[in-house]
Amino acid sequence: MRIPVLALTDPLFLEHQPGRGHPESPLRLARTLDYLDQHKLMGVEFRQPRPATVEEVERVHGADLVEELKRLAGTTASIDLDTYTSPRTVDAAFAAAGAAVGAVEAVLQEEAATAFALVRPPGHHAEPERMMGFCFLNNAAIAAEAARAAGVERVLVLDWDVHHGNGTQAAFWNRRDVLYQSVHQYPFYPGTGAVDEIGRGAGAGYTVNVPFPAARTDADMGAAFHDVFLPVAQAFRPELVIVSAGFDAHEDDPLGGMLCTERGFAAMCSAVKSLADEVAGGRLVLLLEGGYSLTGLPRSVHACLEVLAGRRDEFPGGTSREAERVIHATRDALRSYWPI
Ligand SMILES: [Zn+2]
Repeated sequence: MRIPVLALTDPLFLEHQPGRGHPESPLRLARTLDYLDQHKLMGVEFRQPRPATVEEVERVHGADLVEELKRLAGTTASIDLDTYTSPRTVDAAFAAAGAAVGAVEAVLQEEAATAFALVRPPGHHAEPERMMGFCFLNNAAIAAEAARAAGVERVLVLDWDVHHGNGTQAAFWNRRDVLYQSVHQYPFYPGTGAVDEIGRGAGAGYTVNVPFPAARTDADMGAAFHDVFLPVAQAFRPELVIVSAGFDAHEDDPLGGMLCTERGFAAMCSAVKSLADEVAGGRLVLLLEGGYSLTGLPRSVHACLEVLAGRRDEFPGGTSREAERVIHATRDALRSYWPI
């Protein structure tokens, strides 16, 4: 019988230590795992994944980046102003990418109905040739490539982290086999993700950005899903849905400026689950990205696991005018490619 929800995590993830006071602290995941232990859910099974292989990583990243990362093993080093290694960081990064691949494999092999990789370090800012923004290897892109290598024709990567996933966008910029959709705060770190960034060449129309101003709510997220993401995805018909699930759009997050709640994240998760059930044979994988509130993150992850295990949440009504304006601009940029 298939496991309803496979949760993949590894003690190594707690050993990546970017330094005292850094928001991407091991406590994020430690508190989340404690909360999940105190609020156990039926149907959720935990497992430790294997690390990613160099071959799996190099489907996304250049050999130079992989060499540079391997040289950093065992060291304490600074990659950029907010990205630091500790002695076990490289092992943790390979383990995180491996958890993402393992989540895809479990779902494709019908061992699990859905999977959630509870990882650190996060991945969506890591570009094919550049580590940045707390990220070393792009877990979502590596997972999407693992699915392609296993014969999946079309993969959707949907990114609801409050930051734009510049790395994932760059990895699939020219391609139509992987559709990238992101809703994020804008202007904001890392600066990319404007409505007119839609992909290029064969990939034109296969990058979808909804750049919201700060202070958007659960209802605004609902509008992004119902008016843009879901209709485009239904036309694309992915065979697998991968979510870059960051929870830094939470109202308590110290970095993000949004007003989402755990019930909003549950509604987003319900929407992608229904989409996966409708077009992708139910194949759905969530990967943890950001989320820096040590209370909001555990509750939001738990809410999403509840949805994967069978609960359903709806978005509240009441879309703001500011959100409607952005959604209108995104639809204008993509109307010649999709029925929106
Ligand atoms: Zn983020």
